[in-house]
Amino acid sequence: MIGIMSDSHDNLNMVREAVRLFNDSCCGLVLHAGDFVAPFAAQELSGLHCPVKAVYGNCDGEKQGLKREISGIGQINDAPFFFKYEGLNFLLMHVPYEIKRAARSGKYHFILYGHTHRPEIFKESGVICINPGETGGWVTGKSTAVLLDEKTMDAEIVCLG
Ligand code: MN
Repeated sequence: MIGIMSDSHDNLNMVREAVRLFNDSCCGLVLHAGDFVAPFAAQELSGLHCPVKAVYGNCDGEKQGLKREISGIGQINDAPFFFKYEGLNFLLMHVPYEIKRAARSGKYHFILYGHTHRPEIFKESGVICINPGETGGWVTGKSTAVLLDEKTMDAEIVCLG
């Protein structure tokens, strides 16, 4: 199982809720699609029982501080961040940029992004595209995350808190 979150925007309580959900779901990997904002918000992810892969968002100004917090539990890179997990190819970004073109390239099984704060899951050229919505909940009033089962390819939007 893979836990996917984005746009936590310093909401520590909701980051903790996401950590609880991902640990309870026995996630083997957690993805954050950007906009932690302050490094102390990233520190909360150290409660996870699995590694983290993340990208910087447009509101992540303290990149050195974020890198320091994440380096003990995983990796944070500039978007787009390509990686493999369990033989599957992932493209992680913050701002959804040329999703259709990336999907058509045939290089990826999953494309993950955030920034719009609106959760959505859809297929584009056979690629599963996921925006987990906002962990922070400041914009839409709803804190959400996504659980992705990489074995069945099922993805589910989960409300936090
Ligand atoms: Mn953003």
